[in-house]
Amino acid sequence: MSTATAEKHTFQAEIQQLLDLVVHSLYTDKEIFLRELISNASDSMEKLRHIEATEKDIHEPTLPLEIHITTDSEAKTITISDHGIGMTREELVKNLGTIAHSGTKAFLKSVKDSGSTPGNMIGQFGVGFYSAFMVADEVKVHTRSWRKDGEELVWISDGKSGYEIGESPGQSRGVKIVMHLKEDLAEYAEETRLKHLIETYSNFVGFPILLNGKRINEVEALWLKNKSEISDDEYKAFYQFACKAFDEPAYRLHFSADAPITINSLIFVPGENPERMGFGKVDGGVALYSKKVLIDADPKGLLPEWMRFVKGVVDSADIPLNISRETMQDSALVRKIGSVISKRVIKMFEKEAEADPTKYRDFYRKFDRFFKEGIANDYSNREALAKLLRFESSLTDPGSVCGFADYVSRAKDGQDKIFYLVGASREQVESSPYIEAFKARGLEVVYFTDAVDEYVVESLGEFEGKKLVSIRHGGVDLDDHAPEGESLSEEKTKELCDFLKAELGDRVTAVASGKRLVDSPVIALVPSDGMSPQMRQMMKAMDENFKDEIKVELEINPRHPLVKKLSEAKAANPELAKLVSLQLLDNALIAAGLLEDARDTVSRMNTLMEKAMGA
Ligand code: ADP
Repeated sequence: MSTATAEKHTFQAEIQQLLDLVVHSLYTDKEIFLRELISNASDSMEKLRHIEATEKDIHEPTLPLEIHITTDSEAKTITISDHGIGMTREELVKNLGTIAHSGTKAFLKSVKDSGSTPGNMIGQFGVGFYSAFMVADEVKVHTRSWRKDGEELVWISDGKSGYEIGESPGQSRGVKIVMHLKEDLAEYAEETRLKHLIETYSNFVGFPILLNGKRINEVEALWLKNKSEISDDEYKAFYQFACKAFDEPAYRLHFSADAPITINSLIFVPGENPERMGFGKVDGGVALYSKKVLIDADPKGLLPEWMRFVKGVVDSADIPLNISRETMQDSALVRKIGSVISKRVIKMFEKEAEADPTKYRDFYRKFDRFFKEGIANDYSNREALAKLLRFESSLTDPGSVCGFADYVSRAKDGQDKIFYLVGASREQVESSPYIEAFKARGLEVVYFTDAVDEYVVESLGEFEGKKLVSIRHGGVDLDDHAPEGESLSEEKTKELCDFLKAELGDRVTAVASGKRLVDSPVIALVPSDGMSPQMRQMMKAMDENFKDEIKVELEINPRHPLVKKLSEAKAANPELAKLVSLQLLDNALIAAGLLEDARDTVSRMNTLMEKAMGA
C-alpha cells in the first residue's frame, strides 16, 4: 500500500463503542472470530452466485469459490480469503465503518445510558467482522469488488480509533483479511489449533475450506439436501460422524419448514440408551446451526430436557449467528424452534409405533424413562407423550403391551375412567384383591409395573378426557353387577360394619360394605390421597426416619361365608369375633402389601389355630 494515497477515517462513535464491547466484554469465547469470518466469506460467495444468475459483467468470473486460510506462526498472522463479491470504496466505508442496523444502535445507546452491558441483550445484533479485533491488534482487509469499475483496495485498522483506506495493487476479486495476532494470542497461528476450530464450527460450510492448502471440511450439510437424494448409508455415516455415535440410529426425522420460521432439521434417535447402561445423564445431542455454521453444540433451552437422548442438527437461518449462549434460553425464537422440533419428534414416534409396533416395543423398553420424565416435567408435551406410553393390562397377554389409545378404543360404552393398578410385576398385580371386581365386570385395568409409573400417572391425571383412577383407592364407583351368593341383610351388614369399626378403632378410617369383592371377604382400600406401597417404599429408602401411619378403608363382602359367620359370632362368641376382626384387617393389609409389622399377626394366628383345633 502506498501511504501517499491512503485516506484516514475515524470510526463512527457507535463503532468505537461496539469495538470496546466486543474486545472487552461481549464474547468470552475469543475463538469464535474464525467462525464469524468464515461465515462472512461464505455469505459473500453465496451472494456472488446470486449475482451470477442475473449479471454478465462480473470481474474475474472464473475464480474458484473457495475459502483459503493460511497461517504464519513466525509473523503471527492469519489470512482468510474468498472470491466473493468483495467491496467498493463506498462499501468499505459503509460496511466496516458505520453501523447500519438500527437495533444495534438502540442497544449501544442503552449500554451508554445505563453504563453497563445488559446481559440479556448481548448477542442479538451483528458484530461478526469486528470479532477479529478480539484476537488481532491489526486487521487488513484487501478487497476488489465484483463490479467492473471496482478498485483494488486495502482497509487497515488497529481497532482503536479509526481506519485507513489505501490501494492494494494486484488484489483479485473478493476479500483477503490479514490479521496480526495480539502478543499473548499467537497460539491462533498454529495450524492444529485452527484446524480444530474449523472442524468444530465450520465443518458443514457449503464452500471448500482449505487450511494451508489442505482441504478441511469434507462433510456435506446433509440436512439441507433433498431427502430423495440421500441413501440410508449416507444418513448413517452422517449420524456416526456428526453426532459422534457408534450405534445404528433407531429412527430418524428429516424435515424442513418455511413458515413461520425457516427450519431445516435432521434428528436421529439412537439405538442404545447410555443412561440405561449406567453412564449417567447424557448431554444434549442436538446442535444449533445458522446456515451451516455452528452456533452451539448443546444449546440450553432449545429442546426440553427429556429429549436429551436425541441427536442431530437444527439449522435456522432466522437465528443471528452471534446469539450468545446466555441469551439462548430467553430467546422467543429459539423456544419456538424447540417447540416445533419436539412436537415433530413426538409425532414421528407415534407414526413409527403404529407402522412397526414390535420395533417400537424394543425401542421403548430401552428409552421409556425419557418419555416418562417428559410427562412429569414437560407440561406442553404431556398429552402427546402419553400416547407413546406402553404397558401390560388385564386384557393383554403376558409380555404383550398396549397404549392408552388401545385402552380407550376397547373401553365400555359410557366408561369415563381409565383404571390402573401400580405394582412390582404383572404377577403381583394380578394376585392383588383389587383386581377381582374389575375382572368380574370385564373392565380393563392397566398394569403399571415400573418404579416411576405411579409418579407419572399422577402427573398425567387423565388421557383424552378420561380420568386415570387407581383401583387401590376407595371411592371407585362401579355400576351394579349382580353378585352371586346370598348376602347378609342390609341391617346385619350395617351392624357388622359398626362392630368392626369399634374393634379396629384408629387403624381404619371407615368400614363399609362394597360391591367390588367376589372371592375375598374384605379388602383394604387406600384413601385417594394416600400413598401406594411403592411410594411408601421409595419414601422409606430416601428417609430412614420416614413414618406414616397407614390408615385404610375396609370394605367387606357381605356374601362371603366368613363375613356371614363373623356377623353371627360377634354376639355368640365375642372374644373369637374380636380376634377374627383383627386378623381380617391384617390379612387385607398383607394382600395389599401394606402390613409393616407382622409380630402381632403371627401370635394371633397361632391363637386362632389353637382355637380351630379345639385346644
Ligand atoms: P454482518 O455479517 O452480520 O452483516 P459483519 O460485521 O460481519 O456483519 O459484516 C459487516 C458487513 O461487511 C457485511 O454485511 C458485508 O456487507 C461486509 N463483509 C464482511 N465480510 C465480507 C466479505 N468476506 N466479503 C464481502 N463483504 C463482506
